[in-house]
This record gives sequence, C-alpha cells and structure tokens, in this order.
Amino acid sequence: MDKTPFTITVTADGSLPLPAELRDQLGIKPGAMMSVRIDGLHLVVQALPAIVVVPTVQEALRLKRLQTPVQFLKGVGTKLAELLAKRGVTTIEDALYLLPHRYEDRRRVTPIARLQAGTLEVIYATVQSAEVQTTRGGRRIFAAVISDDTGALPLKWFHSNQTFMQRTWKIGRRGIFTGEVSQFGHQREMHHPDVDWLAEGETLAEAMAKDPVNYGRLVPVYPLTEGLHQKSMRKIMVQVVEQFAASLADTLPDEVVQRHGLLPLSQAIREVHLPQDGDLTTLNKGDFPAHRTLVFDEFYFLELGLALKRQGITLETGISFTVNHTYTKPLLQQLPFQLTGAQRRVLSEIKTDMMAPHPMHRLVQGDVGSGKTLVALLAALVAVENGYQVAIMAPTEILAEQHYLNIHRLCEALGLQVLLVTASLKGKARTAALAAIAAGSVQIIVGTHAVIQDKVEFSRLGLGIVDEQHRFGVLQRGLLRKKGANPDILVMTATPIPRTLAMTVFGDLALSVIDEMPPGRHPIETRVADESRRAQVYALIREEIAKGHQVYFVCPLVEESEKSELKAATQTAEQLGQLFPEFRIALLHGRLKPDEKEAVMRGFNERATDILVATTVIEVGIDVPNATLMIIEHAERFGLSQLHQLRGRVGRGVGKSRCILMTTGQLSEDGAKRLKVMEATNDGFRIAEADLEIRGPGDFLGTRQAGLPDFRIANLLRDATILETARQEAFTLLESDPGLQRPEHASLRTELLRRWGGRLELAATA
Ligand code: ADP
Ligand code: MG
Repeated sequence: MDKTPFTITVTADGSLPLPAELRDQLGIKPGAMMSVRIDGLHLVVQALPAIVVVPTVQEALRLKRLQTPVQFLKGVGTKLAELLAKRGVTTIEDALYLLPHRYEDRRRVTPIARLQAGTLEVIYATVQSAEVQTTRGGRRIFAAVISDDTGALPLKWFHSNQTFMQRTWKIGRRGIFTGEVSQFGHQREMHHPDVDWLAEGETLAEAMAKDPVNYGRLVPVYPLTEGLHQKSMRKIMVQVVEQFAASLADTLPDEVVQRHGLLPLSQAIREVHLPQDGDLTTLNKGDFPAHRTLVFDEFYFLELGLALKRQGITLETGISFTVNHTYTKPLLQQLPFQLTGAQRRVLSEIKTDMMAPHPMHRLVQGDVGSGKTLVALLAALVAVENGYQVAIMAPTEILAEQHYLNIHRLCEALGLQVLLVTASLKGKARTAALAAIAAGSVQIIVGTHAVIQDKVEFSRLGLGIVDEQHRFGVLQRGLLRKKGANPDILVMTATPIPRTLAMTVFGDLALSVIDEMPPGRHPIETRVADESRRAQVYALIREEIAKGHQVYFVCPLVEESEKSELKAATQTAEQLGQLFPEFRIALLHGRLKPDEKEAVMRGFNERATDILVATTVIEVGIDVPNATLMIIEHAERFGLSQLHQLRGRVGRGVGKSRCILMTTGQLSEDGAKRLKVMEATNDGFRIAEADLEIRGPGDFLGTRQAGLPDFRIANLLRDATILETARQEAFTLLESDPGLQRPEHASLRTELLRRWGGRLELAATA
C-alpha cells in the first residue's frame, strides 16, 4: 500500500474534495476509513489499514474556526487587528489564550458614605462641580465633585485633555464612576476614574444592563498596548469567548482529567475570561479551577513532548561501554583526596548509563566547587578505556582553557593525549590538531563550540561532555551527537538550576545531583561596601596578608569588552602596587597565553604572590585554600550566578573566609537585591532561585532555548507544583503507550504535534 502523504486543502465551506484519482491511488473506497493528520488547514491523509477514524471534516472545521484571523470579528478592523498583533494575537485561538492579568470587582454599586479607601469602587452619582484648577505647585489639574444621597466625593485628573473634559462635565449630569478610592487624612478622593454617562431619563439599572461586560460582574483586565483600550478589548474578548470557546476540544486522557479535577477546556477558558463568581484575591492569584486547568493543560503538552524526545533517544541503539578501570583507578590513586559520597553516587549513575546499549543523555547538576569536573573526567576515562574519544565543550574560551589545564595536568601521568580546540587555534597548529583528532591519536578534546564545527572530524567519538549547558541550545547538543555514532552525552551545569526550570529546559535529560561539597568548605562571610569604606577594606587586606593569607582582587567587568577589561585590570594592579609596595602582586587576565596563565596561577598556588588581581578569568578553575579574602570591584555589575562562582574561589581552607562586594554610585533596584542575596546566603540553589525570581525565566537562561515553546498561561515560579504533577502524568502515560499509538490517544497525539509545531521529531518512536 502506498504510504505517501497527500495534502488536501479544505475548502471554505468545509468540504473535503478528495479527487477520484487520488482516492484510487490511495486505495480508499468511497466511504472507507482512513487515518488523517491535520496540519494547519491541510489534511495529511495516509491510506493505512483502517485503524483510526477521525471525524475529519468536523475536526478540520473546528481548527479552521480557531485559526480565523481576528479581523473577521465584528468591530475589529485593520487598525485594531494591528494593535492586537502587537500583543501576539492574530487568530481567534490566540485571542482565547490571551488571559486577563487581573480582575476588578464591579459587582456592586456603593454609596459614597460607604466607600472604602484602597478598594476599587463603582459609584452612581451626579456632578456637582467641575473646573480646571491650579495647584499650589502651579500644576493645572481638572477637578470635579460628585455626590449621591449619602455624601460627596472629589475627583481629580492630573494629565488630561482639560478643554474636552470641561465640555463633557456638565453640572447635574449623572454617571457611573469607577476607580480606586484614596484617602489623605480625613479626605477621600478618586483619581482618574472610569466614567460612563447616563442618557437623559435612563435609570441606573437600564444603563448597567446595557453594558453587562463592564458592570454587575467580576470584570477582566487585559494586558494592553498603546492605543488599545480596556473597554474595547473587553468587548472583543466577550465576543471571542461566546462565539468560539466551544471550538476548543478536550484531548487529555479522561483519567488524568478526573484525577486532577480539571474542567473541560472550553469551560475553563470561558471562566478565566468571565468568572461568574469568586473571591477577588483568589482570582487574582490565579488560584481557581479554571486557571489551574489551563496551566495543567499547557504543562502537560510541554512535558509530553519532552518525554517523547527523551524516549526517542533512549530507544536508539548506542555504545555499551565496559568499565575496566585501566585509567580511572590510577587517576583516583593519584588524587590527594577521596571522592565524596555524592560524587561516587553520580558517577555510578553515569556508568550505568554508559554500560547500557542506549545513548546516555544525562544532566549533572551541582554547586560551584562540588567537584563536577572530576566526575566528568572519570566518565571520560571510561570512554577512553574502551578505545573511544571524548569531546568536552565549554561555552567560553576561558572556561575551555581552564578545563584543558586541569585535565591535561591529571591525564599527563596516564599517558593520554589531551588537546585544546578553540577559535584561537589557527594555521599549521590547527591543521595538525584536526589531523590528530581524525587519526584518533588524541583521546580527549577540550574546546569551545569550535569542537562541533564542520571541519572537526573524530575518529571515534564515544562521549560528548557539555559544560554550562544552559548557555548552549538544544541544537548544539544535537550537533555534538552527530559527531559520532550515537555517542553518550553528559551535560554539566555549574549554576544550580531551580528544579522547575530544569524540568522544562532539561526535561529530556535524566538528572543527577551532586548535593555534597568536598570536606573543608566553610561559609563565606559576605559584606557589601561602598566607596566610603574603601580605607577599611584596604586595612582588611593588610590584616589578612599579615596572617599569612592571600587575597583575590577581582576587577570590574567593562562592558564585555576584553580590551577595556584588560586596561582596567592593569590599572588596578598598578594602583594596588603603589598602595601596597610591601606586597607581591600578580595580574591574571584573558589575554595571557595559556602557559603565562599557568605560570601566574602556579605563583599564587605556591604563595609567591600575595594579591592576585584578576578579571573574571578566576571564575573557575583556581583552587588555593590559603586565599581567604576576595574583593570584588563594581560588584553591582555582576550577575548573581557569576558572583556566586567568583566567591566560590575562597572558603576552601581551614580559616574563615570573607568576600567584600564593593559598589560604586547609585545601585539599581535589581542590583541592590542581588547583593542582598549574596550577603544572606552561600547556598547555590537559593541563589539560583532568587536569580530566577529577579530576572524571570527567559532572561535567567541567557539566550532563548531553541526548541522550547513559550508559555501562554503558566508561570514557572507560581505553578511549580502543577508542573510537577503534569510531568508525572505525561511520563506515566508514555510508559504505558510509547509513541502514543493507541487509538484513544489519537487526538492527543494530533494536538501534541500541533502545539509543538515542527519542533518534535517522532521519527524514532512512530
Ligand atoms: P565544579 O566544577 O563542580 O565547580 P571542580 O570540579 O572544579 O568543581 O572542583 C573544585 C575543586 O575541588 C577542585 O580543585 C577539585 O580538585 C576539588 N575536589 C573535587 N572533588 C573533591 C573531593 N572529593 N575532595 C576534595 N576536593 C575535591
Ligand atoms: Mg567546573
């Protein structure tokens, strides 16, 4: 039977013209059953032995309705459509999912005598006076007084078209006024209320009945763009919900719906836009069944997609490594310490994966200094013992060099070849390096994304290790995989990623956590100090060095430019040299050659240097327990995770360590918050949570993750519990029905593909 997909366009009236010749070619008899996939407005028909019956025309019509452009709504012209598009709304479906960000309680009209300050109130009153006034400060404002049987209330506008207002605000005119009441001493007033005038002879009841969207109910407040008004937005949304919510179909498995008390999708959408009743605070927190249903729905499809991706990989055939200790044992013997319990546990999780016949896809998470590098190296050695090559990829050249130096030092004694591949590797050296990699004479290749470029060919890549994964995209991970025949992939992240985020960004990876620090680490006392404290900070430097300790002096980050960063660092080193002629000062920065860098670091290690002035190069890799003080200049310019990484360089010895965060000038609100967090805790996970809260998920991840859908409703911080539940349900479902092949999951599968667009490859499972 021919399995080629044919594309058929549904006509405007919803009929499905299946040409007779196509029908014959597909072997479909008139009235026969067929399996159909819907892709936008196209039906992709596959003539299969009839298993799944989709009510095709109905389904296509339903989707077509949802994909109707908003212009077709009554009252929405080109101009309004453009404004809506700025909010990301072009189709009816987009509009259904553009949710109110809060609600107003306009259920009751309140007499003026019973108004409450700080609350949004609806008042029915008559204009007593209205005029332009000049305040004592010389500002012109528009002021009015309204009254009802119970009292009077002043209204004020600070920015307004006063001429226009003077014309409309006639004494004796009746209106409905809505706004928040503020109180100044005994005086109550309302600023910038919403006003709806009553027509001549109209009663309040008539006026409110005329506008059931804005009065006598809990009213949704939508996010707007300039030129888009709340009232017109509400009008549009009521229309959309009333006419189209019913077109939403329920695709989640019944048991899931029942277990979690979810509402039908159409009902949930209706209630989220136009809640019938409820407590305002609860509604505004998004803590009600309709909202929870939508959040669950969104997370469920996300996690289902991630689970499928994960399944796709684990179903593939990979390398089954054996563990023979040829290199791992001598390496462990060479170390002056024992692995921590957490390192041992994570390593055994990795080994189990590596021995399995499917590719490993694992994330190792652990705080700064928890010893991830060593775990990664031991995994690398397992691959090398089996005659495979290992690629280790870091996001920056500096990080790659640090890894290279560490690994090179440890592997030299084992007789292994380690090579550094970055963009700086050029000319003859590069040619030779590429040849060695292709010939297989190098076992471990450390580098930046230069490692995954076209020109780099491995002889036999068995394991790819990616450090600081969240700075890379899912895409790069895929490219690395393609450099070998289904190699194992190990991802390491030094920034502990909050669990909720890890579940979404790394949802397709298995997770190992190194949750224990090597012995001998102490909490670091952290203080923020401004310029007025500089003399005290210098005194502290003298004190520490007098005790025989060493000091890090981290220079300001200068707008990501290495050149100006270098200049600033050089100047700082000179200034410190004049201030402290009695101390030995060295300078470390990114422009030094690897061997120069190694020499500086060795000097500090061997106590030949008292103060190490450095750029953020020292963020990683340096380990000098005798260094007990770190000064960070312009600390307000650093991100939280970077500060945490930097600070992790001290607190490694027996003595108490300190970190001083120097600030200059006025701090931004976020800047001040970051430094407070640093003072308050040493715990990487808490710092990461705070970071996520301050910056929001998108920014936290740096570059946007390729291949992940945006959230329309859900909020990773607020809805963490629902995410966890949805994830469990999604993974459980796939365990029972891998590839979602069962007929009762057909519509779920269709919806999943639709939501993920082209970002979900089902090739491996379908
Ligand atoms: P991470 O990459 O997790 O930030 P590293 O792998 O750089 O941490 O380890 C930090 C330092 O701790 C390194 O100098 C490393 O040699 C050391 N180290 C690693 N594991 C142990 C251990 N089990 N005991 C003592 N020191 C350790
Ligand atoms: Mg590291």
